[in-house]
Amino acid sequence: EPTAQPGGKRVVVAAPRGYCAGVDRAVVTVERALEQYGAPVYVRKQIVHNRHVVENLEAKGAVFVDELDAVPEQAMVVFSAHGVSPAVHAEAAERNLRTIDATCPLVTKVHNEAKRFARQDKEILLIGHAGHEEVEGTSGEAPDHITLVQSPEEVDALEVKDPTKLAWLSQTTLSVDETMETVHRLRERFPLLMDPPSDDICYATSNRQAAIKQIAARSDLVIVVGSANSSNSVRLVEVALEAGAKTAYRVDNAGEIDERWLDGVEQVGVTSGASVPDDLVEGVLAYLEQHGYPKAVEERLTEENLVFSLPKELRHSARQEA
Ligand code: SF4
Repeated sequence: EPTAQPGGKRVVVAAPRGYCAGVDRAVVTVERALEQYGAPVYVRKQIVHNRHVVENLEAKGAVFVDELDAVPEQAMVVFSAHGVSPAVHAEAAERNLRTIDATCPLVTKVHNEAKRFARQDKEILLIGHAGHEEVEGTSGEAPDHITLVQSPEEVDALEVKDPTKLAWLSQTTLSVDETMETVHRLRERFPLLMDPPSDDICYATSNRQAAIKQIAARSDLVIVVGSANSSNSVRLVEVALEAGAKTAYRVDNAGEIDERWLDGVEQVGVTSGASVPDDLVEGVLAYLEQHGYPKAVEERLTEENLVFSLPKELRHSARQEA
């Protein structure tokens, strides 16, 4: 029997939150590669966009590099969950690097859509954020066919080669609502615009957004756990505010919470991005309990059961060990 808290304080933690199937696979890939081949295992870019995950893997012997020229000849290198362009694969082959590709299969799916539209000689309007690793990887599949569209506002000034030969694709971790707005505006200008064969925004991104939306409207404060360079985590803050949260902040961990955020706050909503281990969320819930809030209640929107098999280089060893 739940007891009423003084002042009606309440903490609701969203589900689904945290690790998605692609992040789980990428992190296990680096761990298994370290077991199988020994340290150091090089990883191009952050394996997933979470500071804590990267630091933990570094402690186990992973070495994170920005570009392949920092990897010694013949070393083992893992490509991150965000995907890489064909040019990076070519460079790895040229330098005789041994590679394991931890690209999320749902990112690979977008790469394949880009290649297919390019073969059909379509101009691809890629909705996404400039400079994000996933966008760089996808764009590299068809550099001459891809034009980046970063927001609904950019649609008006867009110049295309042939409005009858257009298709759109998107980054996997965008705001669902903002992307639909961008597509709506694109279609107003270009009625013959072709859709991707299936949604590019992944199940994990849309589930996490839908789950926090349900909670945000009755929250005085929403805390999103996730790193600053995590696209889907940053979107969760925007989605929470859009859905009616009075305030919303992103933190890497409980240590970044400012006590003043809690002034006058009764209802707190908590969630986390797809690259965030749940102990960091537990830390935030413990912080709230230490500051006079009751134990969190979980509100689950839907179940997630997706699991991806490991990259082929590691599947073999997994079977042998079993
Ligand atoms: Fe894959 Fe989506 Fe997770 Fe990115 S957020 S790794 S696309 S499941």
